[in-house]
Amino acid sequence: MNIILLGPPGAGKGTQARKLVEERGMTQLSTGDMLREARTSGTEMGQRVAEVMDRGELVTDEIVIGLIEEKLAGEAGGGFIFDGFPRTLAQADALGALLDKLGQSLDAVIEMRVDDAALVARIAGRATCGGCGEVYNDTLRPIPADGKCSNCGASDFKRRADDNEESLKQRLMEYYKKTSPLIGYYHAKGTLRPVDGMGAMDAVASEIAAALD
Ligand code: ADP
Repeated sequence: MNIILLGPPGAGKGTQARKLVEERGMTQLSTGDMLREARTSGTEMGQRVAEVMDRGELVTDEIVIGLIEEKLAGEAGGGFIFDGFPRTLAQADALGALLDKLGQSLDAVIEMRVDDAALVARIAGRATCGGCGEVYNDTLRPIPADGKCSNCGASDFKRRADDNEESLKQRLMEYYKKTSPLIGYYHAKGTLRPVDGMGAMDAVASEIAAALD
């Protein structure tokens, strides 16, 4: 089964993707993670990508489609979770064509619905465990007082350069302008499954499970 997690920044796509990987053995393909890796490569392309990401704008379709194409060539027994991809109609068309070529299909597009105010609260002050990817938040879910991740015990936490108010405003704008048209696109294809992303992590996970089974 191949699925897309669609939703604005802070909707909880990464968190739910990690759960699906653990519980169903699926393979997560996050273009955001791939691009963050590319920016540390020290190449000129990496440098250009870093500047675009830090402004909260979208990287070109050509670059992200290329990254996904490479990964699709690999094996994924439990299927792929596309997290943060596609983000434009051109990317959605390209994904459809790539899956067709491989004789595969797209089974469901989970649309995670979250209020704008909640998105800002979740992203401002976000920190991610460097060991396991567990997500913390200075006000909503602080890092434990002993400075260790409650999930894996690691003590290094990462903060994203684009998790600041100005970039976030731009990321939301990009989402509404370029990505939200995908809701209509996948609705028309009959694969859209809206879920309420405002609940607790486990409640959202149950809704996703119900939409997939
Ligand atoms: P979020 O969903 O929280 O904004 P991501 O980690 O998915 O975070 O993406 C971070 C940044 O990486 C985006 O703001 C954008 O610059 C770039 N990016 C990620 N995926 C894509 C994509 N499919 N197309 C274009 N740019 C992308």
